Amino acid sequence: MQNFRALFLAAFVATFVGSQLAAQPGGDRATPIKPGESCPPGTTEIRPRSCMGPQDPAPSILDYRPRSTLVAPEHLVKKARYPAIDFHGHPQALLGSVESLARLGADLDALNVRMIVVANNVSGEQLKQMIATIKASPAMKDRVRVLAGINFQNVGQGWAERAVAQLEADVAAGAVGIGEIGKGFGQTIKKANGSRLALDDPELDPIWQAAARLKLPVFIHTGDPQEFYQPVNYNNERWLELELFPGRRVSPDQHPNFEELMKERDNLFRRNPKTTFVAAHMGWHANDLGRLGRMMDEMPNLYVDVGAVLYDIGRQPRTAHDFFIKYQDRILFGKDSYQPEEYPYYWRVFETNDDYFDYYRHYHAFWKLYGIGLPDEVLKKVYYQNVLRITPRLPQAGWPR
Ligand SMILES: [Zn+2]
Repeated sequence: MQNFRALFLAAFVATFVGSQLAAQPGGDRATPIKPGESCPPGTTEIRPRSCMGPQDPAPSILDYRPRSTLVAPEHLVKKARYPAIDFHGHPQALLGSVESLARLGADLDALNVRMIVVANNVSGEQLKQMIATIKASPAMKDRVRVLAGINFQNVGQGWAERAVAQLEADVAAGAVGIGEIGKGFGQTIKKANGSRLALDDPELDPIWQAAARLKLPVFIHTGDPQEFYQPVNYNNERWLELELFPGRRVSPDQHPNFEELMKERDNLFRRNPKTTFVAAHMGWHANDLGRLGRMMDEMPNLYVDVGAVLYDIGRQPRTAHDFFIKYQDRILFGKDSYQPEEYPYYWRVFETNDDYFDYYRHYHAFWKLYGIGLPDEVLKKVYYQNVLRITPRLPQAGWPR
């Protein structure tokens, strides 16, 4: 009898505890939350409305580096399938001498980048010097071209005449376009009267009209990724970057903020419909291709380059593929930061259908990339045909049909 009672009790306790465990996995280590609440710090939702922390201390996001066990086709692409033009080139460290230019040529050959456009906002003597060095390079004289810079300081009386004259001189010296107009334009640059120079200031129209007349594309970088303007908290997609490089933060109260800048930029594009604009970094809308598509539809003079936004293209392979197909005549290849080992990531995203592979900068993106498998005709347009068409001053001979 005694034994029977003990057994009965044990069975009862086991059933009771078992049902409690089923209701609350993790037992007393779990913390319940109410619908709509998020888990307390240090825990994660293991079942609906039940949060739990790991048994051992969690690693920092820097140290958590899980090895993917996914086995899937892998196609590394060292060289672009068609010769490419890098429209967003910053190889300035290699432009100083014929010897360093030869090294640049060897780097680019290994990637099948046939031509690089230097987007370093140079003008006057500096531009002439740069072009003279390029012309002296037997290897690179036909493979490097330079954009002209515009000096936006002190816009006011007489500015437009001076700026247009300088632009004409720079074109006579060999410049093929304008840019890269940096992000200071619209944010920090002041007019002669001390006010902020707005992107769509009508006093600038003569320079945009000159660009149209001289057939120069205008390459313009406006503002920063939208998360840079948001509070730096654990919901910010760029938290790590903004902690590594605090200088990139923009105070959420600062004016102009992201949307104000984008509005001015779009006004600039609209009010100069004859001028070809290339918005750097897909206008910082690669994370919202619907928005970018509406801009492209509204503004036929707008082009974009893909520099430094591969993390957004590669995380939405189906949407990005369709966007590239639809706007195949308006997208240019550009890399931005000159790091030869990073170009092959672009080739792999554009040319393959590979799944779930690493991006080159962890602090930009905590996610993996996917190939968008562009057809050959689109690759040719993105790699060289579009930029040749909008930049008639580039060497036009010898490209594949
Ligand atoms: Zn740039």
